[in-house]
Amino acid sequence: MAKTALITGVTGQDGAYLAQLLLQKGYKVHGLMRRSASAEVIGERLRWLGIDKDVELVDGNLTDLSCLSRTVRHLQPDEIYNLAAQSFVKSSWDQPLLTGQVTAIGVTNILEAMRQEAPGARFYQASSSEMYGLIQQPMQSETTPFYPRSPYAVAKLYGHWITVNYRESFGLHASSGILFNHESPLRGIEFVTRKVTDAVARIKLGQAKTLELGNTTAKRDWGHARDYVKAMWMMLQQDTPDDYVVATGRTTTVDDMVRIAFDYVGLNPADHVVISEALFRPAEVEVLLGDASKARAKLGWEAETSLEDLIHEMVDADLVRRKKLG
Ligand code: NDP
Ligand code: GDP
Repeated sequence: MAKTALITGVTGQDGAYLAQLLLQKGYKVHGLMRRSASAEVIGERLRWLGIDKDVELVDGNLTDLSCLSRTVRHLQPDEIYNLAAQSFVKSSWDQPLLTGQVTAIGVTNILEAMRQEAPGARFYQASSSEMYGLIQQPMQSETTPFYPRSPYAVAKLYGHWITVNYRESFGLHASSGILFNHESPLRGIEFVTRKVTDAVARIKLGQAKTLELGNTTAKRDWGHARDYVKAMWMMLQQDTPDDYVVATGRTTTVDDMVRIAFDYVGLNPADHVVISEALFRPAEVEVLLGDASKARAKLGWEAETSLEDLIHEMVDADLVRRKKLG
């Protein structure tokens, strides 16, 4: 019989790729979707992947336990992937309370719904490398101490530990994936890679001249979202729930990532990039570099896409989008 999955955050980048993966594996996929007055934008990413008709959308919000309980009771999912979050670090200083309610307490809500209504289901929590923040070791693994540097990271740390706690307290099959930055053509435009590839497309097409950036010396371990959602699924296929770092093991400055994008279309970043103090953050995560050897050894997972291929794919997609818009 086909397995049933419930994905919170299905309208986001990872939700869309994960839904695609699970549909390919024969799952019935249900996705939690928050209502919007602009109905036409809902499901844009699912449409991009051509799977919008194949995912059953359920109206709901991670902050509302009543709807989560009702949904989990009704669906009796085999697997629950909790990807919903206020996920943008910079916004978390402007909306710290909302970030706490969704990104932290929201995790307890969905865990409670599962504990009460479907305790035999398997649970995935979308944890983040941002939890390492002011890094305590040059390469971060599952045993590296955390030092969060933003309200987002503090909220994610709560989400991580409540997942571990529900596993240890109630014997739930609950796993936490500590994923390093992962991008794709479906990445939100506010994140730096997509902001850059979109600007490169507009500059190339003569629709823009400059690109404003903040701290370009920061380093990130960037992978492709399509590769990373495979690791989420693999975690839930294990007999024993656990925590795993998912990363490429290569770190690159924002500057070098920018260069890869501009080089690809034959432009020089020095002619277009402007540094703006306003885009610097109150506290910065200067460098992240993940050690995914546990995921490699236990799950057989490995990153498949290089940063160059990722950025080229994103620039190509933005050129297509921007040409259409004119
Ligand atoms: P996105 O920002 O693309 O997606 C976030 C999703 O959460 C969207 O579907 C959004 O809905 C939904 N959402 C936000 N608030 C609520 C709410 N109150 N109730 C229900 N749904 C809500 O993030 P990604 O896909 O990139 O990331 C997925 C998860 O992984 C997130 O939890 C993120 O924090 C985490 N993560 C991401 C990393 C990355 O590099 N991408 C790295 C590590 C962790 P809507 O479409 O309506 O906005
Ligand atoms: P994050 O790692 O989850 O915060 O992902 P982002 O893509 O938002 O940011 C990655 C890094 O790029 C951070 O160190 C930012 O400070 C840096 N950065 C520099 N300029 C920008 C910018 O204009 N926008 C964003 N989003 N990040 C920027």
